[in-house]
Formats: sequence, C-alpha cells, structure tokens
Amino acid sequence: MLNSKQIMSKRIYNYIMAHKMIAFGLRPPIVAHLTGLPWRTTTDLWFGIHGRPKAGGKLPESIFRFMKNKVAAANISAFAAMHVRLFPDQTRLGAEELLTTFTEYICIDPDFDINAAYRVAQDLCVGIVTMRKCPTCRATYVSSGEHYNTKKCPFCRTKE
Ligand SMILES: [Zn+2]
Repeated sequence: MLNSKQIMSKRIYNYIMAHKMIAFGLRPPIVAHLTGLPWRTTTDLWFGIHGRPKAGGKLPESIFRFMKNKVAAANISAFAAMHVRLFPDQTRLGAEELLTTFTEYICIDPDFDINAAYRVAQDLCVGIVTMRKCPTCRATYVSSGEHYNTKKCPFCRTKE
C-alpha cells in the first residue's frame, strides 16, 4: 500500500514519462494507457509541447501497417531485437521499458517512429508477432508468417 507521498511521487514520475513520450511523438491515448494519466492531461501535454492539437486518426492496429517496405521492416526488426534483449521476460509493456529501448535505439536510427516502437513492443508482448533467427545471417527479425514483409529476413532476404 502506497502512502500519500509515494502516490504523489508516482504521479510526478508518470507525468515526466508522459512528457518524454509525447515529446517523441507518441499519440496521447497510448500515453494515457501507459501512464494511467487522464486522456485530457495527455492531449493538453501534446498541445503544450507541439503547439497544435494532435492530428486525428487511429494508430494502426498492427505493426504490419508500419512495415511499408523492407527498410522499414529491417528498422522495426532492429528495434524489436534490442527490446527483447533488454527485456527478455516482458509480459506487459510499460512506459519505462518502451522509453528505455526507444532512447537507446534512436542513437542509431534518429528518425524511428515511437508509435511503431510501441506497436511492435506491444505485439511482441501479446504474441501477435515473434522474433525469428535468420539461419543465413543470424540476425533476429520480426516474424508472423502472415505479412509479406515478415516472411523473409529483412536484412538478407532469406525466406522462412
Ligand atoms: Zn538474414
């Protein structure tokens, strides 16, 4: 059971996490989901940071919508490989885990979309996609067996 001081610390901590994720461009409803902050707080934060309301439209429900080409598939696989290496036993995605992997990963790929990062990390947690090791180049990549951009290794094009 948390005392009032601990509850306040947790709220401030969640607010700081939300601020970071929104500055990176993560959609407010996802930030609300990950931090437990009210939706309104996250949309206000978005406006405060970006100076305009968030454009409408739902986040694609599957990571495959982000895999528009083999470069995107390779980048998503590289992020996912780093994420499962940092958090091998993760069953539920948290804000801290997402931010940890994302801030590491953008050192090598500064243009990576945090919304794609969230989607693939979430899909890995619930088992929509898995990581497969390529028998040719030994890279690990996102695999589902369904989408054409996950049926081949995105790094060397070896088929499953
Ligand atoms: Zn390969």
